[in-house]
Amino acid sequence: MKQHSPYRIAAVLAASALVLSACGSDDEGDGGDGDAGDAGNGATEGEASGDGLTIGIKFDQPGLGLQEGDEYSGMDVDVAVAVAEELGFAEEDITWREAPTPQRENLLTTNQVDMIFATYSITDARKEEVQFAGPYFVAGQDLLVTEDSDVSGLDDLDGRLLCSVTGSTSANNVQEEVPGVQLQEYGTYSECVEQLANGTIDALTTDDTILAGYAAQDQYAGQLRVLGEPFSEENYGVGLNKDSDQCEEINEILQGFWDDGTMETIIEENLGAANYTANPDLNPPAEIGGHCG
Ligand code: GLU
Repeated sequence: MKQHSPYRIAAVLAASALVLSACGSDDEGDGGDGDAGDAGNGATEGEASGDGLTIGIKFDQPGLGLQEGDEYSGMDVDVAVAVAEELGFAEEDITWREAPTPQRENLLTTNQVDMIFATYSITDARKEEVQFAGPYFVAGQDLLVTEDSDVSGLDDLDGRLLCSVTGSTSANNVQEEVPGVQLQEYGTYSECVEQLANGTIDALTTDDTILAGYAAQDQYAGQLRVLGEPFSEENYGVGLNKDSDQCEEINEILQGFWDDGTMETIIEENLGAANYTANPDLNPPAEIGGHCG
């Protein structure tokens, strides 16, 4: 997190007071107009701001969105930085904010973030509240089990303890696929991984990208394995407030990243170490666009 000088904090506070007094007339949250010099609408840190971009990411998903001190890494982080750059924002203009699965729509509709890049699947239900650029990547839902587990597929989950995250497509899908499963829902996947490693649950289900990232962590070396039989299509979109006018522009940027090899490089740099290979039948996505508005 950037340290701000006392002068900047005072200036931000003063500007915030101005914004509050002009309450209702600002249009912050649409990510500005792409001009990094568009300073001065005075949003305090942590709110979507006009003099930079506030971007929601995961903080606990290695290879995708990970916070370590003031360092942020992962595929979603790299795609976000690259998109921001195309929109005219330098990396230091970005304020990163944690966007846990159950909070993403709310963070966007209340303008606490300008955009979300957080393994965020495009769904019709979510499109009632927010819009999506993309998809920029397609993953699939899978299962993570301990190395010695006898679970070898969805059919083995009846009556077993399965962990996932509240509000995720993963939790919804599995309840439809295996109505007899005992689903335990947490706020983050990292909580589930701890339970799995402790032996208090039988399996963890979510996107194969996320599972591969955990399985490859040093602390779980040789302990966890992804089954490798994905049973859904998770189309990762860039979440935006419905008022944003940047959706189509971001679609073009994302298409460009697939056309010029940027996406492949980002995927390899972030997921290669976890031995994750993007499904070549689904990537590049068949169509980037169609989810704005
Ligand atoms: N991609 C799925 C979703 O958006 C699962 C991963 C997540 O929760 O971020 O629900």
